[in-house]
Amino acid sequence: MASIDFRYLIPEAIFVELTQLAKDGHKDKNRIVAGWMFADRKNNFAIINGYDVTKDPADSHVRPKSWMRMKKHKLYYMRKLKEERNIDIIYQFHTHPNGKENLHEVDLKILNYLTTGVMVVITPDNIVGWYFDKRETKKAIIDKMIFEIINE
Ligand SMILES: [Zn+2]
Repeated sequence: MASIDFRYLIPEAIFVELTQLAKDGHKDKNRIVAGWMFADRKNNFAIINGYDVTKDPADSHVRPKSWMRMKKHKLYYMRKLKEERNIDIIYQFHTHPNGKENLHEVDLKILNYLTTGVMVVITPDNIVGWYFDKRETKKAIIDKMIFEIINE
């Protein structure tokens, strides 16, 4: 749950690697890379400790062919990864090589369908998360998550 007293930390080495994916995409027709980011939870900190790139670069934001399958796939993978690799927190990420930190129209449609979740956007310069929740409110709650860089 995103809140003011919860903090998101990312080691500099991982920050550099992930933003490089967006930089590379920028040189390659703004092609998008997607995957999972993993974090340890310690008290009120989420500390990123790794990531997996899961999809080949795509040309742009693509609407899911089947919304139900997209949701099942996401929930299945998150559960599987948490169980098999004993991971506390998993976020789905994708790059915005064009540098836009805000959610794309398709990103918002996906979050709307899921009703709650986090979507992390990686630009060539920054990493931001978007916490989305409209389970209990008519208008969705959308909170920006700032990732703070740490030197290990
Ligand atoms: Zn997007």
